[in-house]
Parts: sequence; structure tokens; C-alpha cells
Amino acid sequence: MAYNIALIPGDGIGPEVVAAAKKVMDAVFKKYDKTVNYKEVLMGGASIDVHGVPLTEEALADCKASDAVLMGSIGGDAKTSPWYQLEPSKRPEAGLLALRKGLGLFANLRPAYLYPELKAACPLKEEVADAGFDVMMVRELTGGLYFGERHTEVVDGLRTAVDTLTYNEEEVRRAAVKAFEIARKRRGQVTLVDKANVLDSSRLWRAVTNEVAKDYPDVELSIMLVDNCAMQLVKNPAQFDVVLTENMFGDILSDEMSMIAGSIGMLPSASLNESKFGLYEPSGGSAPDIAGQGIANPIATILSAGMLMKYSLDMDEAFDDIQNAVKKVLADGFRTIDIFSEGCTKVGTAEMADLIIERL
Ligand code: NAD
Repeated sequence: MAYNIALIPGDGIGPEVVAAAKKVMDAVFKKYDKTVNYKEVLMGGASIDVHGVPLTEEALADCKASDAVLMGSIGGDAKTSPWYQLEPSKRPEAGLLALRKGLGLFANLRPAYLYPELKAACPLKEEVADAGFDVMMVRELTGGLYFGERHTEVVDGLRTAVDTLTYNEEEVRRAAVKAFEIARKRRGQVTLVDKANVLDSSRLWRAVTNEVAKDYPDVELSIMLVDNCAMQLVKNPAQFDVVLTENMFGDILSDEMSMIAGSIGMLPSASLNESKFGLYEPSGGSAPDIAGQGIANPIATILSAGMLMKYSLDMDEAFDDIQNAVKKVLADGFRTIDIFSEGCTKVGTAEMADLIIERL
């Protein structure tokens, strides 16, 4: 049976980093004797240029028909690109929102892993960086405060704003199930992060997550208040395996996690729906400032491809192979421009992919 993967090169550095990741995926599929069909899909500015809209029905259908989607990134320079003269619903980012919605992606995965060779980019205390960390954030993506009813009105002569934070138990359960499933593929620990001393929604998250935990006796569940988690992530990130949390807490904590991990060019991400299907992409943007020069760091996209193989295709060893090859390349002193330091060898996008393939 052949796997079907949709590729969205996108804009800016997207086509360069996706081409690099595809080369690495091809090498890994070959190693495991798997067949794969790729379907290239236009999205974002690249789709606007051809079709006048950032995502066509056909492009969405191609993504839905695949086992998983690997995306570069979309968007251009907001000051100079003609895409931003269009009304907001026609701009590149609208395509990404429509794609996420159309694919029913409700769980966002953001790993923070510190490569020993990049310790210098970690802003934490030396002893914390020396200990290393490997955390996976599972953030609920389609509910909570960002999607609740909101309004501003004058009450007793004062401008008063209201935002509502709503979750139903089904929304919590499906996110919790994802976190436990992912923990099973990692070190078997989930930390639920909430504010249950204050919020009813958090108390629902606790109740439902405790129910889900009963189906995963092999996974250890702990619970932490969000304010404490924000501190613990900088004090002792090594204590975390999978962090499960609601939308807004996850938004804030995942940015904190990317900071402690160092370079944006190293951070993969995934968004999953109820099945094994997912959309995998680097955490960074389309970097128009360096597009077309062949110097972008492809590692975040290559690791995103590794996550795709692990979480959508159940090729767990493939992810380990890719991550180990990345570690070796860094240990051998090769760096793209964004992570370069004195004494290392500077390489471009395609060369970095080739060096990783050599070490698979
Ligand atoms: P950005 O992440 O594209 O760039 C920020 C800085 O990091 C730049 O200096 C860039 O050169 C550098 N950088 C980013 N990725 C890199 C890589 N792989 N290798 C080397 N250097 C890298 O953020 P931005 O400049 O704020 O946004 C540029 C465009 O990307 C905007 O149109 C924005 O909307 C879009 N964007 C898209 C996504 C997405 O597709 N999911 C996410 C974020 C931003």
C-alpha cells in the first residue's frame, strides 16, 4: 500500500525547505521499503497568483484525500507584497485558516527539544541547558476564549468588554485523548495545565482529563496550575513530557517553549484531527527576507516530516532516525546561517538536507 502525502510548498522559503524535507522523506521511505505518492497543492500567495484565491476547493479536497499534509509556510512581506492589497478574506493567511478549518484540525503539537550543540542559543541557566529537555505541547486549537462570544458595551457609564471562554466535554475529551496517545509514543507522562482554582472551564478540563486517564493506565497524569507551569518551564523544563492545555494557555506557553529551545529554524509543529491525519509545518514563517537564496534552515521542516511519519503513518523509528541524523549533523559542526557560530561550517538549505540524508 502506498502512502499519499500532500505537499504545500507555499511562499517565501517554503518551496526551498519543502524540497529539502521531501528529499529526506524519500530517503527514509526507501530505507523502510515504503511507497509514497506526492500531490503538490497550491496555497497562500502561490495560489492567489494562479487562482486569485488563497485556497481553492480542489486544493482542500486534495489535502483531505491524503494521509497527511506537509507544508512550508505561506505569506509575504506585508509592506511590499501585492497579496496584502487584497481584502483580508483573500490574503494568504485566510487560506491557512480555511485549510485548518476544512481539515477539522483541533490539536496543535509543538515540541521543544534542546540540541546539546545549540545550548548556547538557550536563554536558560547553564545547568538547566546542560540537563537538556524534550517537551511536547498539545494545545487545543479550536475552542475556548478565542472562539467564544465577545462584545463591548457601556455599563454604568463605563466601557466594558466581555470575552467568553467556553468548552464542552467533547472538545476537552478529544484533545485529552490526543495527548495520552502521544504520551504513549514518548515517555508516558501527561501534565494537564489549567487554572482550576479559579475557572469553571478548567475544572471541566480536570474532570474530563481524569476520566480519559482511566483508559491509559500506562500513562502517568499530573496536574499543574498555568502560572506555576510558566515558571517551571524556565526553571526545570526537563520535568515535562507531554503538556496538555487549552487554547489561550497553550498559545502563551508554546511561545515560551519556542524561546527556551533556541532557534525558530529548528522547531517543527503539527495540527491533528480526530483520525491520524495531520498538517505538519515548521513553526517559523515564510522568511521573505531570505527567500530564493538557498540559505534557509530546512531542519524544522525536515523534523515536521519526521513527525508526519510518526504520528500520521505510525513510522515511529523514522522520526528517531531523522532526529538522530540531525543531532549528528550538528555534532559534526554543520550549521545554516541562522544557527551559525564561530568554528562551524556554514551550509545552505539543500546541502543541509544532503548531510542529514548521509547520516540516516
Ligand atoms: P518569519 O518566521 O518568517 O521570520 C522571522 C525571522 O526569522 C526572519 O529574519 C527570517 O529570516 C528568520 N527565519 C525564519 N525561518 C527561518 C529559517 N527556516 N531559516 C533561517 N531563518 C529563518 O516571521 P515574519 O517575518 O514575521 O513573517 C514573514 C511572513 O511569514 C509573513 O507573511 C507572516 O504572515 C508569515 N507567517 C506564516 C506562518 C505560516 O505559514 N504558518 C507562520 C508565521 C508567519
